[in-house]
Formats: sequence, structure tokens, C-alpha cells
Amino acid sequence: MTEKLSTEYEQRLLQIRRNYEHIMSRIAEAAEKSGRKPSDIKLLAATKTVSYDIINYAISLGIKYIGENKVQELNSKYDDYKLGDCQLHLIGHLQTNKVKQVVGKVSMIQSLDSIKLAKEISKVSIASGLKTDVLIEVNIGREENKTGLAPERLNEMLDEISEFNGINVKGLMAIPPICDERTELCKYFEDMYKLFVDISRKTGDNISMDYLSMGMSDDYYEAIVCGSNMVRIGSGLFGARSYT
Ligand SMILES: *Cc1c(COP(=O)(O)O)cnc(C)c1O
Repeated sequence: MTEKLSTEYEQRLLQIRRNYEHIMSRIAEAAEKSGRKPSDIKLLAATKTVSYDIINYAISLGIKYIGENKVQELNSKYDDYKLGDCQLHLIGHLQTNKVKQVVGKVSMIQSLDSIKLAKEISKVSIASGLKTDVLIEVNIGREENKTGLAPERLNEMLDEISEFNGINVKGLMAIPPICDERTELCKYFEDMYKLFVDISRKTGDNISMDYLSMGMSDDYYEAIVCGSNMVRIGSGLFGARSYT
């Protein structure tokens, strides 16, 4: 029985390695298609529901960014990650009252979507003698039940944030609406890229547009072709999530 289990485990690791190699070659292809180098595109492993030993295996393959969705889950795995030079990001919605639990632990918060949250991240960071890197999450499809800032509010948000000394804005993140058509999906990615380029012209001491984080397992190729430089991949790397 133990032997069978260990074989299954080894099979799982082997599958993850194959998935990783496949994803890296697709990333390289999409990068070239958009006139960039493979190394211009960052792969973040989305690790929700994935156990720390599997995450550490993925890191050992060369993954340099991992992202958790929930503060509680992040904290429960935190002591067991073997990060080395791999960065830990928070990619899920963050409530103001949980900011203290992540500042100092994560290299980046990708889900900043309100002034109130920005103010709290800045305050907590300053109190710890830190500056926290953030991405602004944009609700590019203007979907009612989704987190993220409405695109038309981005400029106002950046103006206010330029006053907050405890945060550095490093770019934008988005999760486009589910689309039946690839052309429709690409329209959202292109809209995000336009916003990203427009804002890049806007300079501020704590604003630099380095990352455009968009694209997941089912659409990372299109996202890169449209200008993404960070893709967040979960199921395509680790297999389908089981929530049991
Ligand atoms: C889960 C998740 C992903 C990855 O989704 P997959 O479809 O499994 O690749 C990316 N970004 C965020 C914010 C997520 O919550």
C-alpha cells in the first residue's frame, strides 16, 4: 500500500514537471510571437489548495513566483515553504483587517482595489519599516460581482496612492470575464494592455509599471500575445483542484 501511494505521488510530481515544461515552451512561443524574449514573461504558480510539499517541488523546478489567494491558507503553509529566491505573492482579495497578517511576509500584493486598502497597507508597512509592492487589480469587464477597481477610476486611485509612502505600485492585474469567444477575451486583454501603456507614461515616486499580470491556465497564451508579462497558472501546472 505504501509503495503504491509513493508511486502515485511520484507520478504526480512527474506530471507537474511535464506540465511545467509544456507551459514554459508555450510561454516562449507566445513571447516570441509578441516580439519579446521568453525571459520577459514571468510565470507565477497559483497555489491555492496545493500542499506545501508539492509547492516546494514546483519551486525546485525553477518557479520564481508563487501566489496564494487566502490569507489564512497562506499563513498555514508559510513556515513550510522553501522559498529560496522564489517570491510569495498574495493574489486573492484582501480584507483591510487582514493586512497585518501579510505585510512583511509577501513580496507583493496583486489585489489592491481600493484607497481604503491602500491606506492600510501603507500604514502597516510604514509601522514595520517596510514598503510593500502592489499591483492594482482592475475589473476590466466591469462585472458587478467581481473585485477590482473600475478602469475609469484608475487615474484617481494612482493620484491618491502617490501620497502613500508605505507602498510601491508595480503594475496592474486583471481577471477578464469568462468569454465564449477568443476574440472577445483578447479585447479585454488588449484593453488592459492599453491602460498599462497609458499609465506607464504617468510617473510618480512610488509608481512604476513593471508588471502586467494577466492570463491563467486556459488563456495565458492569448494574454501574453496581447502584452501580459506575468501569467498566473494553477490547474494547468498542478492539475485540477480538489477542494475536499
Ligand atoms: C486560481 C487563480 C489563478 C489560476 O487559475 P487556473 O485557472 O487554475 O490557472 C490565477 N489567478 C487568481 C487570482 C486565482 O485565484
